[in-house]
Amino acid sequence: MDIFQFSDELGPDKIVGIYDPSTKLHAIVVVDNVACGPSIGGMRMAPDVSAEECFRLARAMTFKNAAAGIPHGGGKSVIFGDPHMPISEKEHLIRAFARGVAQITDYIVGPDMGTDEQAMAWIHDEIGRSVGLPREIGGIPLDEIGATGFGIAAAAEVAQKFLDLDLTKARLAVQGFGAVGHHAAKFLTKKGAVLVAASDSKGTLYCADGLDVDALAAVKSEGGALSDYDGGEHFDRDHIVGVPCDIWIPAARPDVITRKNVDRLNTRLILQGANIPITSEAEDWLHEKGILSVPDFIANAGGVICAAVEYQGGSEAQALNVIQEKISFNTHEVLSKASSLSISPRTAAVRLARERVEKAMSVRWKFGNASSFNLSNNEPTT
Ligand code: NAD
Repeated sequence: MDIFQFSDELGPDKIVGIYDPSTKLHAIVVVDNVACGPSIGGMRMAPDVSAEECFRLARAMTFKNAAAGIPHGGGKSVIFGDPHMPISEKEHLIRAFARGVAQITDYIVGPDMGTDEQAMAWIHDEIGRSVGLPREIGGIPLDEIGATGFGIAAAAEVAQKFLDLDLTKARLAVQGFGAVGHHAAKFLTKKGAVLVAASDSKGTLYCADGLDVDALAAVKSEGGALSDYDGGEHFDRDHIVGVPCDIWIPAARPDVITRKNVDRLNTRLILQGANIPITSEAEDWLHEKGILSVPDFIANAGGVICAAVEYQGGSEAQALNVIQEKISFNTHEVLSKASSLSISPRTAAVRLARERVEKAMSVRWKFGNASSFNLSNNEPTT
């Protein structure tokens, strides 16, 4: 594989493969850009991850952190493996991973799909550098408090004004009822929205009169699937895509909406909870059809904002205030720009984030960074 295939003017700063023969750990770390500060990004565990997915997620973190206005660059890591493996095996693997990233000091590890606060505690124990820690050891447990779902609800409050949508009556469908999906549903239903459909990897649950968010969460927290829930109508996993609703939240995997299935969506507003859930062709199609889609790194930045507040020693209450303030401001900035310039929200968001990263690069490396030095006379070339 050509590891330089992803290189462009922003990064990646480094791509590191980690292998540990004793635990059979296979992992990849991508530190994309550190102009705004040391990179923060989640550690994902799944059997089917790849270097390309890791790079794309790291780039999304560069933009997300810059857009959020936190002093951190973007990075990401992936571990190849089943997140449901026996816990002792998982601990060995994650501790080996922690030792592998000990020297990558500009990468701060956070939780992502397949990893949680416990995993962050093991990493902290090994190398003292992770965020999203359990409360007992000084963390703000971002998945427990639902930091990302809280931010998605803040984005919804702003986005409704651009669509003349009434959040207090909106029908909501959530794909992926995990940490992000469950809390997004919880905070939005608290604002009056009705959860008409939810899905997980095993199936879709639908009820036009509304599903009970707490009851679904209880089934999931006992290790069950939504298909075990006694109520509503049950459909296959991908049925959620075509459910009639006002707000559709992808909160599961990347690339779940492509040009092939985007026309099945029957909604007015998409709040991207998952990272890169919609391909760019599908996003262009949505823009043409007037379906408003708030990009991932704007809508789902709550988790990383919370992590940054934790890293700086702030409290849970401070974290929620900062999330509300930053996500509301950024959603408004992006949707106003998109509307006034007739561009898609993603184009507007990428411009905003890119401007911030480039500004940080020019402020930090006024005379060019290492790669732009003229080695013959050791003078900066710019
Ligand atoms: P999670 O593991 O807690 O939950 C994922 C959920 O998605 C589970 O219910 C699972 O059954 C379901 N799922 C998996 N594949 C599916 C599919 N094909 N269709 C429908 N459901 C499916 O993960 P999470 O922490 O909630 O993260 C979800 C997404 O949000 C990921 O893309 C992650 O990168 C992104 N994200 C998470 C955070 C965070 O704070 N946890 C922050 C930003 C972005």
